[in-house]
Amino acid sequence: MKKAHYTGLIDRYRDVLPLAADCRVISLCEGDTPLIECHNIKQANERDIKLFLKFEGLNPTGSFKDRGMTVAVTQAVTEGSQAIICASTGNTSASAAAYAARAGIKAFVLIPDGKIAMGKLAQAMMHGASIIQIRGNFDDGMRLVKEVANEAPVNIVNSINPYRLQGQKTAAYEIAEALGQSPDFHCIPVGNAGNISAHWTGYAELAASSGKHVTKACGFCNGDCQFTGKSSISNRPKMLGYQAAGAAPFIKGSMIDNPDTVATAIRIGHPQSWDLAQAAVKESGGWFNSFTDEEILATQKLLATKEGVFCEPASATSVTGALHDMEVGNIQNGSTVVCTVTGHGLKDPDIAIKQSATEMLTIDAELDSVKRAILNNI
Ligand SMILES: *Cc1c(COP(=O)(O)O)cnc(C)c1O
Repeated sequence: MKKAHYTGLIDRYRDVLPLAADCRVISLCEGDTPLIECHNIKQANERDIKLFLKFEGLNPTGSFKDRGMTVAVTQAVTEGSQAIICASTGNTSASAAAYAARAGIKAFVLIPDGKIAMGKLAQAMMHGASIIQIRGNFDDGMRLVKEVANEAPVNIVNSINPYRLQGQKTAAYEIAEALGQSPDFHCIPVGNAGNISAHWTGYAELAASSGKHVTKACGFCNGDCQFTGKSSISNRPKMLGYQAAGAAPFIKGSMIDNPDTVATAIRIGHPQSWDLAQAAVKESGGWFNSFTDEEILATQKLLATKEGVFCEPASATSVTGALHDMEVGNIQNGSTVVCTVTGHGLKDPDIAIKQSATEMLTIDAELDSVKRAILNNI
């Protein structure tokens, strides 16, 4: 049954999600995020490359985590769970806190002491989560969450929860639906490695269902959509996973113990979806690469100043990698490229202000000074 307005990704993609027919859907109308075509990126323009940003920062709590959380919390409630728990670099805790509030259950979040962006902490606090700061990093938190879930009645909503990845795969469906096919390359930041795995699942499912009905409720299969009732998606993208140089276990080829990067959302040394992500990259013919904090922040600034898209540092990693791979020719001229922009820039105002503060001008409150400031800078 088609609703008059968009009501979230579970309603839209129900047919491809493993939820009970009569479940109580816990949703904040997540998903349906914009796919923004870049106009002002010279590396793409010069090479006739169509470069798109899938702006996941426009989900209800400002990151793609909401896609997974709506499905994970809906399932937790279906199972009768009264409490959820996660380890988080910030965005998972913000999302878990919001969906737990919506569901009327309790959220416990373990965050690394002092290493969480201000906006994310504010969200977890406002939504009423129980916040537990640990003297350790995300990987320590993840280990503790897995241990405590064996001894206390809590449901883990990190991406080791398979319902999270099921929800997150819907981003691939949306992209393919918007483009009429899968892109040639899909670029994505990699931290715990759940999202790259989820996207690959989505693209692979679509390609496998080519020529068949995909879902009843989505744009693929209603008579009023461009696909006239059947999925025509037969191609799959190469999956390109990009990390921060200080937190790049996939480049090293093994886990690392003291990850460090300004991109706190991907400050992870022991990715939980290691095997799935390796398989996604290998099966798709893609690759991993890593970039320095300076390169990542420069791209964050570039997107904000050239395209009007303000993302958090971790999110800029996908575009940093895309630009690099265009320049060196790994991404061929004429390709279609989608970069996941994972989280909103307002999550981490401190970093944004720090790298832009020198641009601020202070003048006397008088007309002449304002006029001079304009004429000197136009
Ligand atoms: C969680 C997160 C990531 C990393 O995603 P994984 O699934 O852990 O690889 C990247 N960017 C942002 C903004 C995130 O919140």
